[in-house]
Amino acid sequence: MSEFDINRRTYLKITGFLTAGFILSGCKNTHSPQPIINEPTDPIIPDEKAIETVIDLLNSKEVVVLQQSDSDYELKRMGFNLRVPKKPKYIALCKSTKGVSEAVKFARQEQLAVAIKSGGHSFEGFSSNNAGLVIDLSLFKAIKWLDKDNVSIQPGVTLAEVYDNILPRKRIIPMGSCGGVGVGGLTLGGGYGLFSRKYGLTCDHLEEFTMVDGKGNIIQSSDDKELAWACRGGGNGNFGVVTEMTFRTHEAPNWFIRHRFKAYNLTTERAKQLLEAWFTYAGQLPGSCFAAFVLNHKTLTLLITDFEEQSPELTTMIEQFTLLCDKYIPDTKKDLAPSLKKYYGIQHSIFFKNACAGLYTGFSDVAPSIEKVIEIVGNTKGLIFQVNTLGGAINTDAFETISCFPHRARPFMGELQAYYDKPAQGTMQIERFQKIQKLLKTGGVSAHYRNYPDLDFEDWESAYFGNNYPRLQAVKRKYDPDNVIRHEQSIKI
Ligand SMILES: Cc1cc2nc3c(=O)[nH]c(=O)nc-3n(C[C@H](O)[C@H](O)[C@H](O)COP(=O)(O)OP(=O)(O)OC[C@H]3O[C@@H](n4cnc5c(N)ncnc54)[C@H](O)[C@@H]3O)c2cc1C
Repeated sequence: MSEFDINRRTYLKITGFLTAGFILSGCKNTHSPQPIINEPTDPIIPDEKAIETVIDLLNSKEVVVLQQSDSDYELKRMGFNLRVPKKPKYIALCKSTKGVSEAVKFARQEQLAVAIKSGGHSFEGFSSNNAGLVIDLSLFKAIKWLDKDNVSIQPGVTLAEVYDNILPRKRIIPMGSCGGVGVGGLTLGGGYGLFSRKYGLTCDHLEEFTMVDGKGNIIQSSDDKELAWACRGGGNGNFGVVTEMTFRTHEAPNWFIRHRFKAYNLTTERAKQLLEAWFTYAGQLPGSCFAAFVLNHKTLTLLITDFEEQSPELTTMIEQFTLLCDKYIPDTKKDLAPSLKKYYGIQHSIFFKNACAGLYTGFSDVAPSIEKVIEIVGNTKGLIFQVNTLGGAINTDAFETISCFPHRARPFMGELQAYYDKPAQGTMQIERFQKIQKLLKTGGVSAHYRNYPDLDFEDWESAYFGNNYPRLQAVKRKYDPDNVIRHEQSIKI
């Protein structure tokens, strides 16, 4: 099969809609394990005083430990992204918060780094490590309603499982779209999707949680507002293992509608004009709307979704893009649950590289580099440049206060994506991907989304957390002073 065929096939599979948030899903691995490419992580220096008794994890009733010789190990060690395979020494399949505490204490005793896996969808494989211990939360699947508005959801629950539970009750939490993503990583790193401009980020709806810290202690977030603040947007893989989460919900809309537009064989100039117009009109949409600009090679797809009566701003945008694009694909109002299922995406691990391409205030943020960016995308099959709307309720003072997500005043987020079937096919795409990243950086783009990480972000601390980084370091020193919980871009002590 030619490269074009592979990319086109992959593209068609993923265009249920697009953005990592709308492209892919599932963490069931149907591929063979790949060679290990990452170096082992550094050993930790344990705080001996914190290890009061010797933990025999292999004989625990609360944890099933998989080692490399176990038959389930290969299946469990892979995450969603086959590009970043890792090989931990132990995978601790924990059954309870107590089991997680035992696993963390065991890791300290054995001087192993701890990674945490909920849905396994980390772009850079931060939920695993080499030669360390992975706390696997795939058994943390409980959803329990506390009352009509509040629901307790364990971190191993996937987004599809959340929607399947909450929509029949006519409730909604603003989360992502991809069915296989775990609630754990999504929420603790922020979490945005089709309902965020109306209600805010997922982490803005995290009321309380239970966490096992880096010493193995069980902590309630209600006892420490600073920890709650840190974990709303900065909690993934940093301070401890979150095992229980309580969310506030909203009344779910009754229906959902999408509008799509297509433009083909784009020149750089036309694509640039369309992007500039998109920023102008998408920025004026009401909170019930989400919009995405998706440039894949020379084809543009625009998506606008809504769940309230059509506003004059949306009518204007539809009129404008009907004129500017080659094709308008209207739709009718549909029930919400089946509509969201269209975005669940594929259900097996794949090779890909995705990363944030910046959080923007408007077109002016990309203007210095955009022509070259469009040119590279236009010359590279399988490479996607996408911009999504944020803003709306995300930019609310009350949410700013309770969470460490620092980019609320930026109503747009860019994303770069490359998909391929075999590692060798990705080489050229990734080279060009990195070229685009350099262009954007040189053009002044520096803010990025924690949940769309890239190991190549040099200033990742300020890119993800802005001025909040030192405050997050203080939380790290309190809850994980020995840096037991860590990955390549976890908060440093
Ligand atoms: C196909 C796809 C679609 C996506 N769609 C969206 C979207 O619509 N909206 C959006 O905002 N993002 C989206 N993302 C990004 C997604 O939010 C992040 O990849 C997220 O971190 C994945 O969470 P997870 O639990 O599945 O991943 P994991 O790989 O299990 O974990 C990701 C990170 O969170 C940490 N972590 C996980 N669980 C816990 C826990 N219980 N306690 C402490 N730390 C924990 C891990 O250490 C790791 O650093 C998408 C990603 C993919 C691959």
